[in-house]
Amino acid sequence: MRSSASSPGVTEPAAGRSRLVVLAGPTAVGKGTVAAQVRATHPEVWISVSATTRAPRPGEENGVHYWFVSDEEFDRMIAEDDLLEWAVVHKAARYGTPRQPVDLALASGRPAMLEIDLQGARQVRETMPQALFVFLKPPSWDELVRRLVGRGTETEEERTRRLATAEEELAAEPEFDVTIVNHEVHAAADELVALMVHPSVHPHQDGPTINNL
Ligand code: 5GP
Repeated sequence: MRSSASSPGVTEPAAGRSRLVVLAGPTAVGKGTVAAQVRATHPEVWISVSATTRAPRPGEENGVHYWFVSDEEFDRMIAEDDLLEWAVVHKAARYGTPRQPVDLALASGRPAMLEIDLQGARQVRETMPQALFVFLKPPSWDELVRRLVGRGTETEEERTRRLATAEEELAAEPEFDVTIVNHEVHAAADELVALMVHPSVHPHQDGPTINNL
């Protein structure tokens, strides 16, 4: 069951809650775009750079969008416990969050954000339950399909696989503390930053929906 968006104080950080926000949501919902918008407009927010074994896409820079690493390097990171979480995403490549930069950002008191998949969010929930877990949701299923087809970065086979995953991922919404509907990237990014920078901001009708906090 979901509490109403006007529940008093529900976005107040619980005692001991860190300023870590974990943003997850189905494939193609626009997590990366929302994170890029936050990066561009809110330099006070620290955003984790993940390690991945997938190849860079045109325009992607090592150390900016991802740390592009070999399978051997990724194995080493796992073995040395360098990753806060990691997962195989879309059966294609491994992605993981380097642990030390997150610890440093939190120690410095900066609001920090991870943009990761559902499997990773579940792992962080186990190890850092005090983080705020935010689910980014598409306005509708049709819109999700439209975005996935529209971005044109996947083959037909890959799209079919991602849509099957997206259906499962959408069902995970109740596991999250807050839902933001990504109608429009600027608004979604603003809602996200409001949760991080002004955690006592109360949600309003058009703002984020508070799930079972
Ligand atoms: P893409 O290859 O399109 O950049 O990202 C594919 C998926 O990997 C996205 O759903 C993104 O959220 C997820 N992802 C990116 N970095 C990480 C990470 O560090 N850990 C996990 N678990 N997923 C990640």
